Amino acid sequence: MLATLDNQLIARAEASYLGFALGDALGATVEFMTPREIRATFARYGGIHREMIGGGWLRLKPGQVTDDTTMSLVLGDAILACDGRVEPLACAQAFDAWMRGKPIDIGNTVRRNLVTFRKTGDPVAPPSEHDAGNGAAMRVLPVALATLGRDDETVRAAVRAQAHTTHHSAASDAACDCLVFMVQDALRGGSLRDLYRQRIRPFVAAHPEFAFRPRRRENPSGWVVETLQAVLQALLNNGSFEACLIDVVNRGGDADTTGAIVGMLAGALYGHAALPVRWLRALDPQVRMRCTMQARALVAFAQAA
Ligand code: MN
Ligand code: MN
Repeated sequence: MLATLDNQLIARAEASYLGFALGDALGATVEFMTPREIRATFARYGGIHREMIGGGWLRLKPGQVTDDTTMSLVLGDAILACDGRVEPLACAQAFDAWMRGKPIDIGNTVRRNLVTFRKTGDPVAPPSEHDAGNGAAMRVLPVALATLGRDDETVRAAVRAQAHTTHHSAASDAACDCLVFMVQDALRGGSLRDLYRQRIRPFVAAHPEFAFRPRRRENPSGWVVETLQAVLQALLNNGSFEACLIDVVNRGGDADTTGAIVGMLAGALYGHAALPVRWLRALDPQVRMRCTMQARALVAFAQAA
């Protein structure tokens, strides 16, 4: 029985990581576009973007991912190298090495605070309420996997160790906590209704700035509040992996990041069988393999702890 549960957990963890990469690759095609521009560009396809075709402002290959996924992968490797612990210095060094590799895209806050880290050697960015972008929230998945089954305070400390290397703001912290607890609940078999009652509703009650209406938030920016509002709406307004991803990326704006976060949550909720095969086939095979392997390795560390 225990072995069966563990296998289910591992399968969901893999689906979450693959869903995350799929959302990044799908959304990147329409990143920074408005919904109107997307409708015009995809007029031949009913005005909806729904295939892994690459392109976008980064001129990606079909199935190619961006900083959201590549930063998460280097973070996960750093956690594995520390035997499953989330060490601020190891995280900052991993991100710095990633930046030296000239990634195809990088957020302004990430760059600025990593440049500061190079000068000071301090892996904790100075606190700033202006650093409320979604750059830390977009890469919480390795932390969620590495801390599965740990007590809430341990989880929160690990969330901050990762996040504060580049984003040291209360709004970012609140969003990161909410996402990590949601994905962990989903990995353990929680339903969307469970997530709403136990995580989303209390989160919005404690942090009213994140309150959202059922109506779609169009063109969500990189501000973590708008990002979370779009993510939560898309998740709650749709009943399948594919439907919530198509919904959120067609709102445009920071579509690779909203797509990645929705893909992470929906992958954990709906499992591997819900991931569209045509998308998985198109995903960069190297990324597909690394996401799968890392999900397994991080869950293995969490279960051994
Ligand atoms: Mn990106
Ligand atoms: Mn983005």
